[in-house]
Amino acid sequence: MNRISSRREKLRHNFKSDDLQGLLVSSATNVAYLTGFTGDSSVLLVSRERELMISDGRFTTQIEQECPGLEAYIRPSTQTLNQAIAHVAGSLGVERLGFEAAILSVADFQTIREAVAGVTLVPTTDRVELLRQIKDEQEIEATREAIAFAEKAFQMLRPELREGASEKEIADLLEANLRRCGATGSSFPPIVAVGSRAALPHARPTETSRIGDDHFVLLDWGATGRPYKSDLTRVVVTGKVTSEFETIYRTVLLAQERAIAAIRPGVRAHDVDAEARSVIEQAGFGRFFDHGVGHGLGMEIHESPRLRKQSETILQPGMIVTVEPGIYLPDWGGIRIEDDVLVTSDGCEVLTHLARTLDSVRL
Ligand code: ZN
Ligand code: ZN
Repeated sequence: MNRISSRREKLRHNFKSDDLQGLLVSSATNVAYLTGFTGDSSVLLVSRERELMISDGRFTTQIEQECPGLEAYIRPSTQTLNQAIAHVAGSLGVERLGFEAAILSVADFQTIREAVAGVTLVPTTDRVELLRQIKDEQEIEATREAIAFAEKAFQMLRPELREGASEKEIADLLEANLRRCGATGSSFPPIVAVGSRAALPHARPTETSRIGDDHFVLLDWGATGRPYKSDLTRVVVTGKVTSEFETIYRTVLLAQERAIAAIRPGVRAHDVDAEARSVIEQAGFGRFFDHGVGHGLGMEIHESPRLRKQSETILQPGMIVTVEPGIYLPDWGGIRIEDDVLVTSDGCEVLTHLARTLDSVRL
């Protein structure tokens, strides 16, 4: 059994303990995780005895190449994907078939339900997502690589942060740099926010705000590698470091350091969030930090576990999370510092290496 097929075995093992006879996996990311398939328009049906990819003729060869040994049902062009799912589920004799409630649309659910007699469709959540939380060595390596792409792209960008360049020009350059550095692309559209625009945690780069309009710029970007993702945020001062900037920056940095120091196996996700939050609250900025301190990172840019107030998730070795506290003052701007952290067997390892001290933020 290889590392990919062992994931399907784990999934199957998990639903043996409840009353499902199979699971329909329709999230493209989950299908890719469980099979190695990089195409689309295909689903995976895992029953207690069998596992079948349901796809169409465009992907016959690709499935053979990317998923050796995996059984495939190639639907004829006269059959829709939903009809094919109903056909396969019916022929496998599965009575209770789980589906991914967060993924399958209501319309698809109704079509499949009507097309298949004798099969009860049972909503499930996070069956594959929970497996994806724990990364193996190759996934960790792929994340390191995606981080290296992002860090190199940022270093290449720094000399371009010249007065007069618009946020959009910088974001476009950053995306081009990511590809030049080896990434397949951005892991999400980069955020480039000058001064007060950075008060919006998810500001869209504009053509009207320009470097130099205010004394700093916030950049939040990441790379998609093979196919793991990275996610970083840095603030660059293009003018003078004001005392207000210094106070807020130091607070965010301390909050981040405290949160990272708390990361180790056995700790609850909300406790990591609380570490950062208490620093920001004690500095009097509590109400200006209203998002979780971090999120899981992997094949998707936001995945489990979430590091936020109510999250009871217990950290385990192999999890990769971002740590990204921020303070956002309306009209003034926002500061966020974001790094990617691996939970190890006895603590954690910060995978990102770009400097983040106050001295390093000056252009
Ligand atoms: Zn980010
Ligand atoms: Zn993030």
